[in-house]
Amino acid sequence: MSDLSRPQGPKIVAVANQKGGVGKTTTTVNLGAALAEQGLSVLVVDLDPQGNASTGLGIDPERRDYTTYDFLLDDAPLADIILDTGIENLSIIPATVDLSSADMELMSSEKRSFLLHDALRQHGMDTYTFDFVLIDCPPSLNLLTVNAMVAAHSVLIPLQSEFFALEGLSQLMLTIREVRQTANNDLRIEGVVLTMYDARNNLSQQVEADARANLGELVFQTVIPRNVRVSEAPSFAMPVLNYDTASKGARAYRDLAVEVLRKNAKLAA
Ligand code: ADP
Ligand code: MG
Repeated sequence: MSDLSRPQGPKIVAVANQKGGVGKTTTTVNLGAALAEQGLSVLVVDLDPQGNASTGLGIDPERRDYTTYDFLLDDAPLADIILDTGIENLSIIPATVDLSSADMELMSSEKRSFLLHDALRQHGMDTYTFDFVLIDCPPSLNLLTVNAMVAAHSVLIPLQSEFFALEGLSQLMLTIREVRQTANNDLRIEGVVLTMYDARNNLSQQVEADARANLGELVFQTVIPRNVRVSEAPSFAMPVLNYDTASKGARAYRDLAVEVLRKNAKLAA
């Protein structure tokens, strides 16, 4: 089911922030699960050598024979690389530490930023009918993150509701601008989502007020609350939507999915 008129293929979203622990992986996994729950076909690309999205979606390390590394370097059949998660409509290309390999650094600079772009647009991808590709980026503005930004239509930025949250955002915006100027003119910002929000905490409220004052419309109305069920879900190798479907965290990610779909419907109109 697709209400997005994109005959050219899936909407590709890079989930990025060079800070670690801000909710990139959690947002990728749970937004992906929420979109899949709505009947959209979703591919998660684990682009972090730590492989947390892969673990969080139940792909044991011994099942990671082929990974994003093979996808980037065109090393194996797509059928071996793109795995079912066991959740309807949700597939994943898993990652392992081999992704931090230096091989990519050795390529000509022109080619090496386009590896993910080209992989996602290769001929064989036509047989998959993904509506969304969500890319879980590593906590760095390295070559992998640049690959995500070059490949993507938009960047979704999780912002942890804590002190210094906005610090570092200008560096991220600068990188987005650079990619826009050099390799991907149409790169947009999908939005900024506040994560680990604690409504009883003044600091969370202050971060939200600052973010909305500085970034305006870019900030999603939906905020993701700090919720213990969200942090427990990965150790059960499932999204919080499946682990505790009625939890606050699950409901927030459903709201975020609806907001993303609404934004995209508007863009397509
Ligand atoms: P990143 O991918 O940016 O490094 P993660 O998504 O792995 O960040 O999140 C960092 C930690 O915070 C993880 O342990 C995760 O379970 C926890 N976490 C993320 N979002 C929430 C939330 N809304 N409520 C509680 N814990 C969360
Ligand atoms: Mg992560």
